[in-house]
Amino acid sequence: MADCIFCKIVQGEIPCAKIYEDDLVLSFLDINPINPGHTLVLPKNHYETLFEVDPETLEACILAAQKISEAVYRGVKAAGLNFLQNNFRAAGQLIEHVHFHLIPRYEKDGFLTSWPGREYAAGEMEKTRKKILAEL
Ligand code: 5GP
Ligand code: ZN
Repeated sequence: MADCIFCKIVQGEIPCAKIYEDDLVLSFLDINPINPGHTLVLPKNHYETLFEVDPETLEACILAAQKISEAVYRGVKAAGLNFLQNNFRAAGQLIEHVHFHLIPRYEKDGFLTSWPGREYAAGEMEKTRKKILAEL
């Protein structure tokens, strides 16, 4: 993808603080970290969202992310770690090249400290379950 920042990083046209690389996967530090050590893991090939990634590449990304997560967690002496992935603008995706966030966390660091859960209306949970099952 000619105008994709992450493809340019994969091609070496834009520099990055590299953490890990293999044939399918690249990992580097996020340029605007939530906390120092915030790391991105992505397939070298361009896929826009999680939905398009082929199984072999996805497996490679997840396994790399698992290994790198622990290194991030231990390396920056975090108290916790979020494994996040955004799909589409409505979910906060800004770079349209699928990537996983590994975010080291500390008590009271101000990020995602509460989860604004709401209750289902009567019958809504079952209706929702059926809508999902119809697509599975
Ligand atoms: P998204 O919101 O798409 O899930 O996350 C995109 C992430 O990419 C953001 O956290 C942002 O800071 C990071 N980012 C955007 N441009 C660059 C860049 O050129 N280099 C690096 N290392 N990170 C970037
Ligand atoms: Zn790309």
